[in-house]
Amino acid sequence: MTHQPVMHRVYIGLGSNLDTPLEQLQQALQHLAQIPQTTLKAVSGFYGSSAVGPGTQPDYVNAAAELHTQLAAHVLLDHLQAIEQAQGRVRGPQQWSPRTLDLDLLLYGDECIATERLTVPHPRMTERNFVLQPLLDLNADLRMPDGRAVQALLHQLPSGGLWRL
Ligand code: ATP
Ligand code: CA
Ligand code: CA
Repeated sequence: MTHQPVMHRVYIGLGSNLDTPLEQLQQALQHLAQIPQTTLKAVSGFYGSSAVGPGTQPDYVNAAAELHTQLAAHVLLDHLQAIEQAQGRVRGPQQWSPRTLDLDLLLYGDECIATERLTVPHPRMTERNFVLQPLLDLNADLRMPDGRAVQALLHQLPSGGLWRL
């Protein structure tokens, strides 16, 4: 008997506001394409966004990517964190500090995951226009696992601090 591998449709949020952010994202996409048992299917447009976080920080570059993967969510997270490390991510003591690369696992199929290391859907994604707008580029009909339309969620947010690059 042959087993068909289970393929999960996954969305990743990318962000950088240090060390030539545009190049960081380009490099991250190349790394994402090399994750085993995973295919990089599509990439959104690139956006500039004003930083939210402690103190005055450089603007961000943000994008989203669609992957198809056979990997379990936690294994995928391991790969995302390894890519962040490889691109010089330093985890400071403070949350939301500037960073060379941030890769967030936004959606993993329709699954809801709540472990110590991993919460999916990403718990703050619905509050962030710099996450939802790139996602809509990839799939205008995208819905959260609870059925809410991403388009409608974006309409409820302030539209400032985000620009297409
Ligand atoms: P935010 O989560 O608000 O976007 P951040 O991206 O700056 O902030 P990080 O410092 O990158 O936060 O991550 C902190 C921890 O979040 C990671 O160690 C990771 O284990 C955990 N985490 C939980 N859920 C997710 C997820 N869906 N994607 C990525 N990391 C997650
Ligand atoms: Ca993040
Ligand atoms: Ca993160």
